[in-house]
Amino acid sequence: MNHKSSSELFAEAKLLMPGGVSSPVRAIRPYPFYTTSAAGAHLATVDGTTLIDCCMAYGPLILGHVHPAIRTAIAGQLESGWLYGTPSPLEPEFAKLVTGDHPGMDMVRFVSSGSEATMAAIRLARGFTGKKDIVKIEGGFHGAHDAVLVKAGSGATTMGVPDSAGVLADLVAHTRQVPYNDPEALESVLSAHNDVAALIIEPVLGNIGPVLPRDNYLRDIREITKAHDVILIFDEVITGYRVGIGGAQVKYGTKPDLTTLGKIIGGGLPIGAFGGRREIMELVAPQGPVYQAGTFSGNPLSLTAGIATIRHLHNHSTIYRDLEGKTRALEESIGSKDGGSFVRLGSMFKYFFRNTPPQNYREVKECDTTAFGTFWQGMFRAGIFVPPSQFETNFLSAAHNDQDLAALAQAYTQCR
Ligand code: PLP
Repeated sequence: MNHKSSSELFAEAKLLMPGGVSSPVRAIRPYPFYTTSAAGAHLATVDGTTLIDCCMAYGPLILGHVHPAIRTAIAGQLESGWLYGTPSPLEPEFAKLVTGDHPGMDMVRFVSSGSEATMAAIRLARGFTGKKDIVKIEGGFHGAHDAVLVKAGSGATTMGVPDSAGVLADLVAHTRQVPYNDPEALESVLSAHNDVAALIIEPVLGNIGPVLPRDNYLRDIREITKAHDVILIFDEVITGYRVGIGGAQVKYGTKPDLTTLGKIIGGGLPIGAFGGRREIMELVAPQGPVYQAGTFSGNPLSLTAGIATIRHLHNHSTIYRDLEGKTRALEESIGSKDGGSFVRLGSMFKYFFRNTPPQNYREVKECDTTAFGTFWQGMFRAGIFVPPSQFETNFLSAAHNDQDLAALAQAYTQCR
């Protein structure tokens, strides 16, 4: 394949932008391919190649690229304007939908990204409890802000940089960490420290996964946090509407105090949201003393795309079953092989270069990243784009058809 145009674009971009990219995980070596258009389950590159996409923009595009219903909704809203700086009727409409779907959300605030949502949720938990510390899960990723950029997953793990320069040690000293799937570790941290405001957790580890919760793990941490008066924040930026309507809190029957959302709820446009128990949310400004604000919050285009996506998911009840069927078929076709394990949950899946499915961050780090590098190159040559990191989840969408799945099964089998 000739990727001359991508290589030239990257050479120019590197002079103008740090690392040549707008977000670290996109910096594929020796240079990333440049996308010019997308449709359904496919990306078209500036070099004239078409790729089957198993990244789906890292999760938002559950219906596929340029889905007609979302496109029509966005086009319709464009006629009426794309930023008002005032409330719009879209906000209560979407708030009703989102809170109706999530048992842990009586009220919601819309923001512009998942990072903004987790940042605000942590501030709110501190404001509500009057306590200082937070606990996060090793390998959990909650965006690129200071309090949570500690042993993060996603790009930070891939680059082997668990912390970031510029993050104050004093600040991170308020962030404690425990391993995933280990309720005893959480119990002992909370027993030893009584100044913990919140536990923030991806209920299914998505940024190094999927790493799945063991039986009763989420219920156990719910009980432990309750017993210690610690706010439980489910970061459902990936799992929200991905593992089903109502996200992981419905799937695993565990009600958090606060929930953060992003990705799918924007239908592919920038968005985030945080919400939770009424008595906690009533502390958010202007109703209460916990300040949070944003020029683009409740953006009409993002809300329109989000409403169209969530309504589509509600109205097509077979989507989640079909998605589950696709990853199951993929697993059955690929089978198991020494040195690898296939993990899936609904439309989230991954081939780990490790004999057994990992249970936590330490086990994920045991994966053979050299084997992954060779695999990634092979997949790319076969016309398939999987996220360029052993640590990122692969995603399928409603747009992946039988032909795409057959090509995926063949390539995974050959390249792993
Ligand atoms: N939380 C989780 C679980 C995420 O996966 C991400 C991003 O990948 C974020 C928060 C941050 O979201 P955003 O990239 O929209 O800021």
